[in-house]
Amino acid sequence: MDLFYKSTRDKNEKVTASVAILNGLANDGGLYVPESIPELGVELSQLANMDYRETAFAVMSKFLTDFTEDELKHCINSAYDDKFDTKEIAPVVKVGDAYGIELFHGKTIAFKDMALSILPHLLTTAARKNNIKDEIVILTATSGDTGKAALAGFADVPGTKIIVFYPKDGVSPIQEKQMVTQTGDNTFVVGIRGNFDEAQTGVKKMFSNKDLNERMNAKGFRFSSANSINIGRLVPQVVYYVYAYGRLVKNNTIKAGDKVNVVVPTGNFGNILAAYFAGKMGLPIGKLICASNENKVLYDFFTTGEYNKNREFILTSSPSMDILISSNLERLIYLSCGCDTDKNIALMKELNETGKYTITEDMKNNIKDFYGNYASEEETKETIHEIFEKYHYLADTHSAVAYCVYNKYKKDTKDSTPAIVASTASPYKFTRSVMTAVDSKYDKLSDFELVDEMTRITGVKIPAAIEEIRTAPILHKTVCDSDKMQKTVEEYLGL
Ligand SMILES: *Cc1c(COP(=O)(O)O)cnc(C)c1O
Repeated sequence: MDLFYKSTRDKNEKVTASVAILNGLANDGGLYVPESIPELGVELSQLANMDYRETAFAVMSKFLTDFTEDELKHCINSAYDDKFDTKEIAPVVKVGDAYGIELFHGKTIAFKDMALSILPHLLTTAARKNNIKDEIVILTATSGDTGKAALAGFADVPGTKIIVFYPKDGVSPIQEKQMVTQTGDNTFVVGIRGNFDEAQTGVKKMFSNKDLNERMNAKGFRFSSANSINIGRLVPQVVYYVYAYGRLVKNNTIKAGDKVNVVVPTGNFGNILAAYFAGKMGLPIGKLICASNENKVLYDFFTTGEYNKNREFILTSSPSMDILISSNLERLIYLSCGCDTDKNIALMKELNETGKYTITEDMKNNIKDFYGNYASEEETKETIHEIFEKYHYLADTHSAVAYCVYNKYKKDTKDSTPAIVASTASPYKFTRSVMTAVDSKYDKLSDFELVDEMTRITGVKIPAAIEEIRTAPILHKTVCDSDKMQKTVEEYLGL
């Protein structure tokens, strides 16, 4: 039985998984959602015996039903290989009384690698299946980590070009250096004078610009997206929650069937939505704990039912979560109102026109498994310091937001269900913020002196991703205003 994908904004659109991946965004600007969430179809006790690739196949084959077994296995084997610095791919480590799943062992040392290692393979397979001969142009807005992970995934992949927009002053120095040193003839990196939301809005506008798309097609190009609006991003992210559960069963932390809570440091709402999907597949997930930084739009949403982006955009030490318009929330909104496209369109229109909307009591009731809270900059710093002092474990700023919110949750609720904490980036990606949280004296050191000091105090080897950029030449220097993004794309593609 094939599983089809519907748009959150058009009840008549219905496409296969491969077409949904190719398109990225639906024609009407909506997001693709599976018609129903498939059952996991594996005994929970069995998960303990499955490695990452086997788990990936079990989960992804349920969602991507128009891929053959061979096609999907080829994609999985090409993605989850020695690009990751550990055979486990995503190891689970005990940090205090929490179980951190480290999602940063891929090429660019952030959790985006979990999905972006496989997306290019899914996309090129999807193009072949659907007889697409056009060159695929990946258009991506990044708050710091998606950009590099997508560049690494798509660099020199035949039949593709990738264009990344990042907020010039809104990413960490290491994040920026990683992107602007990217090699590959098909890569193009642009800094914009604006924030992530402006970059994301600019990209979405290009996707739905009919005239631009027609001129693209005439030249043999078509757009697709590497942002988490693409279900080819979302589906691979479901895998590691199932995998983490299997690890906890394997080491007897839980019995098969026991509930676990999940804590996710959240920005665009993709990672936590994947956890929600894992729960709907039958993984026994109790609470979905949504952790925000000072851009706490989601915390306010889960506590009041009002989503309101009309507020100051705050640059924090966890830049990958500096987001006020969480794109993937639209999928949850759509599902929580019984897949009512008219209701969803009305709310999204309100968001677009007034910057806010309020959901009904029924909808609120349908999403009561979510709990939201946030960590201030000071609390994030304290959490890094405390975890290092107590457990000699160095968390990055994003993961620290999650650990901090987990502690708040326990205090609030007295719930002692074991919790899986999504650990989304290596501390090496945010060396200055992390090291000065350990001790303010480190502020005097340069970025790479900090890297060396970090390896000295933790004994954790410097990741290849960091060694590579120490001396790499800067290859991308384009900077533009946020309203000139389309012009930059047209120039690059020769339209
Ligand atoms: C992207 C990112 C997040 C936020 O994930 P979403 O899926 O956008 O909610 C959190 N932490 C890090 C390190 C990231 O790169």
